[in-house]
Amino acid sequence: MNKGRTAPKKKVSCADCYFHCNTLCALGLDEPCPTFRPDTPEGLRPPTQLRFLFRTERRTQSAWAFPTADEQAALHSA
Ligand code: SF4
Repeated sequence: MNKGRTAPKKKVSCADCYFHCNTLCALGLDEPCPTFRPDTPEGLRPPTQLRFLFRTERRTQSAWAFPTADEQAALHSA
């Protein structure tokens, strides 16, 4: 099962690459390299930017706080 992940992507090949289709690739590799860009009718498009995600919930409690005087007294009075 594919927990928390998107659907598996189609395996790309150099034949699908913009650089290969436009005879711009000078690499003689057996598999696609990190430069791979899909060949689309619109031509070469920059990779999509990551999006900012703003947190809507605010943290209302601190992760840790000093014990109160009563808690300290109870801890050390035993
Ligand atoms: S740039 Fe990389 S992915 Fe594209 S054709 Fe060349 S080797 Fe393959």
